[in-house]
Amino acid sequence: MSVYVFGHKNPDSDSIVGAISLSYLKNQLENEEYIPARQGEISAETRFILDKFGGILPQLKTSVANERVFIVDSTDRPHFQDDIDEATIIGIADHHKLGDLTTNTPLEAWIRPIGCSNTVIYEMYRCYGIDIPKNIAGMMMMAILSDTVIFKSPTCTKVDTKAVKELAKIAQIDDFKKLGMEMFVVKSAVNDSSARELNTRDYKEFNMNGHKVGIGQLEMIDISVLAPREEELFEDMKKMKQENGLHTVLILLTDIMKEGSKLLVVSDDESKIESAFNIKLNNHTVWLDKVLSRKKQVVPFVQPQF
Ligand code: MN
Ligand code: MN
Repeated sequence: MSVYVFGHKNPDSDSIVGAISLSYLKNQLENEEYIPARQGEISAETRFILDKFGGILPQLKTSVANERVFIVDSTDRPHFQDDIDEATIIGIADHHKLGDLTTNTPLEAWIRPIGCSNTVIYEMYRCYGIDIPKNIAGMMMMAILSDTVIFKSPTCTKVDTKAVKELAKIAQIDDFKKLGMEMFVVKSAVNDSSARELNTRDYKEFNMNGHKVGIGQLEMIDISVLAPREEELFEDMKKMKQENGLHTVLILLTDIMKEGSKLLVVSDDESKIESAFNIKLNNHTVWLDKVLSRKKQVVPFVQPQF
């Protein structure tokens, strides 16, 4: 029986590349066939990576009842298919807080507090002594550069920087930082996108003690290009809050050159957000200096407020 490998809903490059890189590894080690999959459309950034390294788009898999699955890049139930509880999870490769998925059978779990699931998968290749093909090495390198914001994110560790350097050698990329910046230029394009596309480009919902909190993030080289569209983003955040029964919607406009994020807030109780970050909101916004990571610098501070 085949095993489907996929990351979270609204897939980012780590989720897509992780499905590809982990499937290849497992197919070298086991007789079962591992099939890369995804839960939704890919971003322009991920398209750039697949095109650059000749990657094949994983197949769309929105229902997994009675399937065997290996999940990457999250263990939070809301980030997976509605019928994930009817699947058999045989493995996890992740770098987030442990979520609320559980299993009925023994599984393998590779979870480390490092910058990227693809760094975890890189370590798995090393552990088993399997060579990484050139094109997969290139994609894994790009996924790590994306998740660590070219090493600037506080989630980035020495394990990640070392992995990128090794992968760049295999992929024969001399200037990986330059290629990383090219990727962020692609990621920064906003002109052709609606407010909803921008708010949900990298968006996750969290269950915080019974309250639904949605947190989106736009990582850009220069967030000032979004200034004329902020009102539009706010209007759409209000709609998202209404449509999905959310307590709070947060959008982080992350400026990777200024190394901080402008936070946009639509909430039933803004004081929760003010005390989370020990700040005062001004017109529902605030600049959070040095805040680049939702996982490490936002979720852990908002969660205790509920
Ligand atoms: Mn991810
Ligand atoms: Mn990740």
